[in-house]
Amino acid sequence: MFSMNNSNPFAPQRERLRTRTPMRCPICHSALGKVIIRDIGSAAPGAIWQIHAGECPDHGWFQTEVVRRPPREIFPVTKPFGAARRVVVAGREYYAFSTVWNELPGEERRQPTDPLEERYWQALPLPGV
Ligand SMILES: [Zn+2]
Repeated sequence: MFSMNNSNPFAPQRERLRTRTPMRCPICHSALGKVIIRDIGSAAPGAIWQIHAGECPDHGWFQTEVVRRPPREIFPVTKPFGAARRVVVAGREYYAFSTVWNELPGEERRQPTDPLEERYWQALPLPGV
């Protein structure tokens, strides 16, 4: 979903520290710290294309990509824009966490939506948590 190598076709990149991302920890749903939002560019006129990364003090770094619409999955990573990592929660392993948006009927996902609408970014409850 996101490319982490150095031959990034999207350079130059603009990064900025912000205090707010709709992304929360997909495991404990805490607010994330050290938030970094990278603007990749515009997927279409007026449409955002960003990568959001942030750290949960208990569960590490997470990242997702926003292209016009809320993200369907949140990924655990070793560091911002780093490698994917495996997370074990209640005996199950995860490389990605589905969001509320991912579970919406396709018809609803095609409606005009604010890609930064926080309720869509919420990770689904995990079994055994
Ligand atoms: Zn957490």
